Amino acid sequence: MSSNDESEEFDEEKYEEEMRKIDEEFPNVKFTIAIPYDELDDVVIDGNQLVIEHDYTCICCDGRGLPSNKVFFNINSPDKPITNRLIINELIKHNFDPGCNHHFLEFINKKNKNNVNSILYELAFGS
Ligand SMILES: [Zn+2]
Repeated sequence: MSSNDESEEFDEEKYEEEMRKIDEEFPNVKFTIAIPYDELDDVVIDGNQLVIEHDYTCICCDGRGLPSNKVFFNINSPDKPITNRLIINELIKHNFDPGCNHHFLEFINKKNKNNVNSILYELAFGS
């Protein structure tokens, strides 16, 4: 291994270490957590409730014959702030599986950014 290779911006060791920590902490996850490890404790919403909406509408999900192409997860956390980590753990509890090639969870975003009071969020998946 050369220490002065060209890919200086991408710290492979740090990336592998983060992947290892994520694997250890979330052994049952059915998607790939692509949110950086040190952002898992970032608070997603000020408040103790939000709703995650996931649409099974990407190109590889089309025609799967599902009764509904949307799922909702109500997340309530009266005692602890709602962080990326808490949401991921809730999704795992519900056995959530995107079921397609778009299984790299990159962000958890507010769905309607113009509505200050909206508690509806969506999962941003990449492939
Ligand atoms: Zn897909």
